Amino acid sequence: MSREAGSSTPSTPEGPADLERLRQGDEAAWDEVVRAHGGKLLAVARRIVRDEHAAEDCVQNALVQAFLKIGDFQERAALATWLHRIVVNAALMMLRAQGRRAEQPLDDLLPAFDEYGHRVVESGPAPTSPEELAERAEAREIVERAIDALPDAFRVVLVLRDFEDLSTQEVADLLQLTPNAVKIRLHRARAALKTLIERPHRRAPERVPTPLVRRITGIVGRYMPLTITCQEFDGFIMDYLEGSLPERPRRLFEIHVLRCRECRTYLKRYKQTLALGHRICREDAEALPADAPPRLVAAIAKARAGRA
Ligand SMILES: [Zn+2]
Repeated sequence: MSREAGSSTPSTPEGPADLERLRQGDEAAWDEVVRAHGGKLLAVARRIVRDEHAAEDCVQNALVQAFLKIGDFQERAALATWLHRIVVNAALMMLRAQGRRAEQPLDDLLPAFDEYGHRVVESGPAPTSPEELAERAEAREIVERAIDALPDAFRVVLVLRDFEDLSTQEVADLLQLTPNAVKIRLHRARAALKTLIERPHRRAPERVPTPLVRRITGIVGRYMPLTITCQEFDGFIMDYLEGSLPERPRRLFEIHVLRCRECRTYLKRYKQTLALGHRICREDAEALPADAPPRLVAAIAKARAGRA
């Protein structure tokens, strides 16, 4: 099956006449909605709740809610966006209802810094860069497994912000967090995802002590103008990529990336990780199981009967 965007997407019933049919509960019109959007909705629900059956329940609940609330739908918004919000809400509710699972700590997936703020270099076989991985057949499986392996609090932020393209403020509102907390979680989630896709079969690598020459440059660097540590650099990455870093730190960031090979490589791979994750989640046609559309439409029909 082609994964080219748009090539396999059925026509979406979004014209005014179609909306009127949806409002009247026309079963054929809802069937078209399910077929056009169901696969993507199922994919996002699955990424959040990580369970096939639970994801389908989410989509079913969301479609019933969409049916009941279609009168509120503003025609200026895209129907797909509106449906995605409803599914995301349903999936988050389900995740909360499931309660916390025992989760592996995130710390050993995050970059480490020594006491001088230098990036700690790891020994062992060189990890596969996300760019190299992107060329391989198993890329999808590795990326999906890596996303699934992230703890809920981090995975959800990553999925909503990077793959569903919600704004920081929208994610903050949905999760009842401050925008700053969303940014911190997102940065950690991306860093952890990078580690997980670079070392899918990883054993904890040995950490190489910082070479003497770097330690000395670190000490000297503290007293030099225009110098930031690798650790400070790391804290600026998010804002730098969003273009929201003020001028002076942006300049310090750019000077550091020129001087520090480790951070240069890190930044490159951080960006590659995002691009690869984005591509794989976007291509996610995730065709609906053949028997799903009738089931979903039947749930809508039942809601309609209940309302009549
Ligand atoms: Zn550095």
